[in-house]
Amino acid sequence: MADNNSYVQEDALLTFQKGFCQLSGDEAENEDINQDLEENRRRSVDEDSIYLGSTLSRSYQTEDLHHSPVIKMGWLDKSPPKGSLVFQKRWVMLDEQYLRYFDNEKEVYSKRIIAIASITHVLNVGGQKFAVVTRNRTFLFRSENNTVREEWVSVLQATVQQHRKRVEMSFMNVSDMSGQHNGGVSISKQGYLEVDGLRSKVYVVICADRVFLYRSTEEHNQGVGITSIEMNMVTVTSTDKRSFNITTFCRTFSFMAESEQQREQWVEALKACVGRSLSSNRVAQKIWAEEANQRCADCGAPNPDWASVNLCVVLCKCCAGVHRGLGQSVSKVCSLRTDEHLWTDSLIQVFRLLGNDRVNLFWAANLPPSEALCPSSDSEERLQFVTAKYCQGKYRNYHALFAKQEELNKALCNNIKTSDVLETLALVFCGADVNSYTGDPELPSPVSMAQHYGQTLQVEFLTRNHSTEIPGSRAGDQPVIKAALPVSHTGYLFKTASTTRAVTESKAKGDFSRRWCSLDQDNFSYYENEKSSSRSGGMKIGDVLCLVINPPGKHGYAHSFELYHDTGRVYLFGEDCPETVRGWTKAITKALVPPKAEVLVCWSFERVGRLRYTEGQHLHRPYLGWFSLGGSKLLFLHHEADQVQTIDLRKLQELSVHQEAGVVVLVCRGRSLRVEGDRRPDFRGWLSGFLQGSGRGDGPLEQQQLTNSDVPVIVDLCMSYITQYGLKAEGIYRKCGVNSKIASLLLSFRSDARRVRLKEEQHQVDDIANVLKRFLREVDGGVFNGHQASLPWLHTTSVSESKRVTQYKALLNSLPPVNRATLGAVINHLHCIQCFADENHMNKHNLAIVFGPTLFQTDGSDNNASQVIEELIQNYQDIFNVDAEKLQIKLDMISHVIKAQEEHCIETTLTICGVYVERKEQGSEVLVQISQAMTAEELVCEALRRRNIPTRQGDYWSCFLVDDNQEMERPMHYQEQVFAIYISLGKDDYLMVKRNGFMEAMLIYIAGRIEVSRNGLIHFREEKGQRGKRTFSRRLCVLSSTSLRLYKDVKNTQPERECPVHALRVYYGIKKKLQPPSCWGMTVVCEQVERDQQRWYLCCESKNELIEWLATFMRLQCKGDLWPGATKPVS
Ligand SMILES: [Zn+2]
Repeated sequence: MADNNSYVQEDALLTFQKGFCQLSGDEAENEDINQDLEENRRRSVDEDSIYLGSTLSRSYQTEDLHHSPVIKMGWLDKSPPKGSLVFQKRWVMLDEQYLRYFDNEKEVYSKRIIAIASITHVLNVGGQKFAVVTRNRTFLFRSENNTVREEWVSVLQATVQQHRKRVEMSFMNVSDMSGQHNGGVSISKQGYLEVDGLRSKVYVVICADRVFLYRSTEEHNQGVGITSIEMNMVTVTSTDKRSFNITTFCRTFSFMAESEQQREQWVEALKACVGRSLSSNRVAQKIWAEEANQRCADCGAPNPDWASVNLCVVLCKCCAGVHRGLGQSVSKVCSLRTDEHLWTDSLIQVFRLLGNDRVNLFWAANLPPSEALCPSSDSEERLQFVTAKYCQGKYRNYHALFAKQEELNKALCNNIKTSDVLETLALVFCGADVNSYTGDPELPSPVSMAQHYGQTLQVEFLTRNHSTEIPGSRAGDQPVIKAALPVSHTGYLFKTASTTRAVTESKAKGDFSRRWCSLDQDNFSYYENEKSSSRSGGMKIGDVLCLVINPPGKHGYAHSFELYHDTGRVYLFGEDCPETVRGWTKAITKALVPPKAEVLVCWSFERVGRLRYTEGQHLHRPYLGWFSLGGSKLLFLHHEADQVQTIDLRKLQELSVHQEAGVVVLVCRGRSLRVEGDRRPDFRGWLSGFLQGSGRGDGPLEQQQLTNSDVPVIVDLCMSYITQYGLKAEGIYRKCGVNSKIASLLLSFRSDARRVRLKEEQHQVDDIANVLKRFLREVDGGVFNGHQASLPWLHTTSVSESKRVTQYKALLNSLPPVNRATLGAVINHLHCIQCFADENHMNKHNLAIVFGPTLFQTDGSDNNASQVIEELIQNYQDIFNVDAEKLQIKLDMISHVIKAQEEHCIETTLTICGVYVERKEQGSEVLVQISQAMTAEELVCEALRRRNIPTRQGDYWSCFLVDDNQEMERPMHYQEQVFAIYISLGKDDYLMVKRNGFMEAMLIYIAGRIEVSRNGLIHFREEKGQRGKRTFSRRLCVLSSTSLRLYKDVKNTQPERECPVHALRVYYGIKKKLQPPSCWGMTVVCEQVERDQQRWYLCCESKNELIEWLATFMRLQCKGDLWPGATKPVS
């Protein structure tokens, strides 16, 4: 959950903004049936509902977010919008105070919220419908059947009744008038606010501990709004002069006030509202039992009710806010009141054992009194202090072993056997690796070691810190990135409003405003004009992740550049004068990149910035590197090297993008570089830059994916294949292939040539030969670099024979490098082919007739084309300056290869992957080279071969993806590709080759079964259920060829949960902590696009039942092909 937080917010923000863009769009809803009321009719025409789509992240339930218990909820149809006859499906939820409806049950923010106080009556209407009537309008709902309708109507009526009674009581007893039930009393602020960046307004009301959004003040008076925001897990931040954000854990609401002063008032009122929303006290009392925890660890404020659960400090609200701003990787902030459920007993014990004073013996050992905080410190001071204390570790008590990594790790492994958690804290925050290897194969990790020694508090501390950034390791804290020379630059630029996503559309001049900009060292500021004394905005260059120079003409101002800020915001600047923009980008990049990376910006790059990356096997230790990119050239400054490396993206051996994991892997010359990002716009920009630079199948030769010798991968692969399998094929290159196969293969090559693998058993040589011909005939510009440039070649045939070779040589030298290399490779290939003319009947003349028009891209009427090619083949050694001896060696090798006729083509193997065989322990790991296309079956064979394990029939060796943390494992399908899985492995995951004990039974089961689908009762539980209800309960499970559905009981027609079969990942096993009712369980991960991952636990009554479910899952997902060579089920 923690690490997903920012992703969720980012996406939710997009949806939010998208939603507001649709203001006048398609969501018009006609909510009135009292059509005779003229005023109402007008309103329904004027108003559109605002879509506030936001799906919950997986560890929360909607109910968790609302203070009042939900009285009733379920699906209902709402009256159709204007112009439509189709009712809209809505998830409807009722509590003591409000009736709301949502797009679906995962939504956090409603489409509509109706105060119970405003409901006058609830009526049955015909056709399973009922009406909720308020003073000004009527909402019409339709239910599935009359029973459901009766339930809703009676519950609603009772709720309205009770509400009235409560209000009467509170009026009678004035002292009890808390304002809880009467919106007017406890409103602390209300008014219109503009939704940031768009010209629409909403009426915002801060009432008690919530914030309500209405379309207008009338709506507010009527008690009918859009949605409410619970303020208990919220941060409020000013983002600009007039703008501010309300950030909840799943959404950021951006607003703009009318003035700076107004903004201040709103932010203050909202912060007070956040304060009021705190209620519970249980955990706080326990934590405060340790006296030192009664004062904030950072500023000393009394009764701190927040904590950082990994840094082990108890904090006041103000300091906790600053901690939260540092990110989860530094400090995991948690409330003592509202996050009660996160506080396990052992976590509470850790806090009581340590306590603020003892922990500060470490964190604040070297704190000079002048730098200490006090409760009245302002937020700037707090930020400075907290950053220094926890990000930089400035005041910490340096451990005696500091900077001695090995010894630190060793000390950690020894210490966790004891109960001294404080020492563990000191070791870890001085750099001891929480994930280091203990040296004991039985207990390989510190956590397992601590567990073994019964040190639950140590385990608690270690697990809270398994991914914490160690103080001083943050990029921004390293002095190396500071520019050596002072930089300053001033002048006018045109600027657009900043956005949270990349600017893809072209901005007109009107979208820009003129600003006086000033760069002074690390500070970049802009002002209304030269004379303005207060800046209208700006940023620290140290917070800029990336600078992008746009191609000229992209926007209204001819030249423009973008700055990508750490917060995810994008700033666009432009000017018509190229020199002005060049001056600015030069100055900014100078301030941005460290001195030793200056080479990165001394060329015509398009993008420069910093990225996290890992190399080779060290997947869990990312470094920070500087990169600049232009076209297919990527420059890269290694974190500790002084030399800048150049990567030609066209020549990558592999490029794989894993959007989900936020990872892109570049493999170049056998080295793999794994660049990590998140969903911020800068990383997305890098991704598309990498993809574009890595070769385009539809471009000219020089934009193709290339081999190290500058030959397009497609040309190289086809020729290698023909050399291997087609040299003796009669009429090679003359015969036609199968047109559909040629076309589809060519398409695969064009989309990503690196991923194409040619296999003897799958491809005919004539098809491959024609793929090559068609590519050469169609490639943009051809080998001879366009029609004009090809003419002198054709004219050479009229030159006297003695001079031709010289002329060909001269022409060859005038070709661009990629064209020259490609022509050389093709002629070399043809030369080899004609050496075997005895068998293939293709002498140089025959080949020239075929390749003349192909290479010159002519229709074949001009004999000169063929003549040129024949002469090139004839004089190959002379023209291409080839050593006779080397050519002979090559021909000998080819003969040898043909003789041996090896079974599989030679492929480049790249990444080294560690796989355990049979069990996870030291020594059972084998290293296997894997390529992008390697299948699980191939991996299993290779791993067993290396361990000298013979395979017998019935062993069913499989490759399992094991997740130790979740206590689950998934056998990969034998044809599944390993590479993608391997590089996205989590910290607790690994691959293991072992026998699949269920396979035989599964094969028997499906072989004897005609029906594909299966249904039956099953024990079900979700990852995190409603509080107190986290147990398994019986569900009807229906697994069909398209989807998995779970029903509450047989009578229900609507499934409670649903997921398409293709989005399911089925693992064996269920975490024991979840107390499954039997040992025959499976964990089903549902990964739907546009949704968060969901995890369902399904548990069976018997082993046979489990096998039957597993078999059905597998059969559906791999179309019956469970095991190579096994009998497929009857279909
Ligand atoms: Zn504090």
